[in-house]
Amino acid sequence: MSKVLVFGHQNPDTDAIGAAIAFANLQQALEVEAEAVALGTPSEETQFALDHFGLKAPRVIERVKPETDAVMLVDHNEFQQSVADIAEVNILAVVDHHRIANFETANPLFYRAEPVGCTSTIIYKMYQEYDVEIPEAIAGIMLSAIISDTLLFKSPTCTPEDVKAAKKLAAIAKTDLESYGLEMLKAGTNLGDKSAMELLDLDAKSFPMADKTVRIAQVNTVDLADVFNRQSELEAAMVAENAAKGYDLFLLIATDILDSNSELLAIGAPIDVVETAFATSLTNNRAFLPGVVSRKKQVVPQLTVAFEG
Ligand code: MN
Ligand code: MN
Repeated sequence: MSKVLVFGHQNPDTDAIGAAIAFANLQQALEVEAEAVALGTPSEETQFALDHFGLKAPRVIERVKPETDAVMLVDHNEFQQSVADIAEVNILAVVDHHRIANFETANPLFYRAEPVGCTSTIIYKMYQEYDVEIPEAIAGIMLSAIISDTLLFKSPTCTPEDVKAAKKLAAIAKTDLESYGLEMLKAGTNLGDKSAMELLDLDAKSFPMADKTVRIAQVNTVDLADVFNRQSELEAAMVAENAAKGYDLFLLIATDILDSNSELLAIGAPIDVVETAFATSLTNNRAFLPGVVSRKKQVVPQLTVAFEG
């Protein structure tokens, strides 16, 4: 078999990078020539975690074809969130915890999807199933991915399996889960030194909804005012992004990781659909979303229903 590239989604978060490292390591243990790569550079949160456990950031790729035609996807499946030439290569495996959409293959594949809070939780279980030992540093980055995706277990996406895996991984990584977790999440909330465009691109995904393209960015903060003090600058960047990339609607979800609430900023159209989705009305392009922390569970499904309605 030719070399296999393993990667998570564009604008990688800690799970996209951590799950790629962990799954590539598992594949290597199973004697597959696998390499973890990434579709972007690590965020500050992810870099904090990599540094903490002494791991290198995976090499960034833009296309697969020049190197190989065999890939394994983690933490995503939708083609528009994947590598540019995904439709031209052979997808051998997917391990993911998102909805399945805009995905098809020419050949049979290994596909594992579970509705848990983190891809790294599924990969933790696969290490058990294959009876492969998890190296300490890899346990650390998998733990970091679970903390990141579940916001230290506070997200509604978090399941008992995520908590169980995180505790086992923390023991392997010899890490105090709570104190390390908060430190890592806070490392990802340093927004002040970023331009509005950089902030919007930290953790953003595009979703086709009805006949529209909706861009949804999320940033974590310990103070929503840090984000909304820059509202006009952010709005200008969102208008520019909509025009340049053809998005119909751009949503920014700013999430307070201490209080577990979010505030929404919406630019584009249709705004009435956004208001329906969240049963609220926007004032000054904004709406407070109490208890909302998960794009996947508390934003995308509600918007999808509203767009289809
Ligand atoms: Mn992810
Ligand atoms: Mn994930």
